[in-house]
Amino acid sequence: MPIYEFRCEACGARFEELVDAGTESVACRTCASERTRRIYSPPGRPFGIVKTPGETRKQERKNAQLRERTKQRWSAARRRGRQSGEES
Ligand SMILES: [Zn+2]
Repeated sequence: MPIYEFRCEACGARFEELVDAGTESVACRTCASERTRRIYSPPGRPFGIVKTPGETRKQERKNAQLRERTKQRWSAARRRGRQSGEES
């Protein structure tokens, strides 16, 4: 049985429900209204790829460090190149 995501038209709640395939609406968990609609989310969203905001920030910091290190290495190499007297 697939898990579908529903949105309640009455109270705006969003919830996931394990229902039979093809079920278009279920009673709202919050207000018990039957005016719910299935949300068509992209199928097979892989859990590993969905990152929490904290993980995303950590990754961005790591990327920034990597960029900084690459820049430093590059300019150090350029300095060394100049010191070796290439330009004279
Ligand atoms: Zn509701």
